Amino acid sequence: MTERGLLSVVLAVVASAMLAAGCVPQDHGWTSLYKPAQERKIRVTMPRNAPSISQQFLFTTHDAKHIGIDVIGKVGTPVIAVADGWVRDSYFEPAYGNRIEIDHGSDVRGRRTVTVYKHLKDRLVSDGAWVARGQQIASLGTTGMLGGGIPHLHFELYRQQGSQGETPTDPHLFWADGVGRVTCFDALATYPSGDFRMTYPVPCR
Ligand SMILES: [Zn+2]
Repeated sequence: MTERGLLSVVLAVVASAMLAAGCVPQDHGWTSLYKPAQERKIRVTMPRNAPSISQQFLFTTHDAKHIGIDVIGKVGTPVIAVADGWVRDSYFEPAYGNRIEIDHGSDVRGRRTVTVYKHLKDRLVSDGAWVARGQQIASLGTTGMLGGGIPHLHFELYRQQGSQGETPTDPHLFWADGVGRVTCFDALATYPSGDFRMTYPVPCR
């Protein structure tokens, strides 16, 4: 094997070891694949300036679950509200650490949406507070039991589904720019009201 051939093999091994360990090759503009078991996979487009997604939504009747997305970032990165709403819960518990839940109310179809932010370093809002889209509510952290030990925001979305109540739902369905089109928060933009539409839970650079 040539020296160059050996080098590319070594690099490939290092890259796959990083992925196995939960590391991602880029800290911005990258998004991981869905696990094969996920039935409804969405084609995800990441803006180049958006912090990367290291794990996708996985929710099936018979498989391991990851009912949200993981966004990686440095400890202390601002965590921002994805849409206007009321803080329904803000507390610490051992498994997921500091967590905040925001109730975004019902959309024009009468369906309620709730978003949840976990592993937070701190919590800057308390129960009952009104928050605006893009407002900092916390900082990205490592509290609770962190899979892989890599600092990340674990972000969940629950959607009212008739008599089933609030059901974990793939967040990629609700971006302001459309299904699968991760949308950075822009303070100068105007966002449509009516159907629930959200922006990224951390600022893009
Ligand atoms: Zn997670």
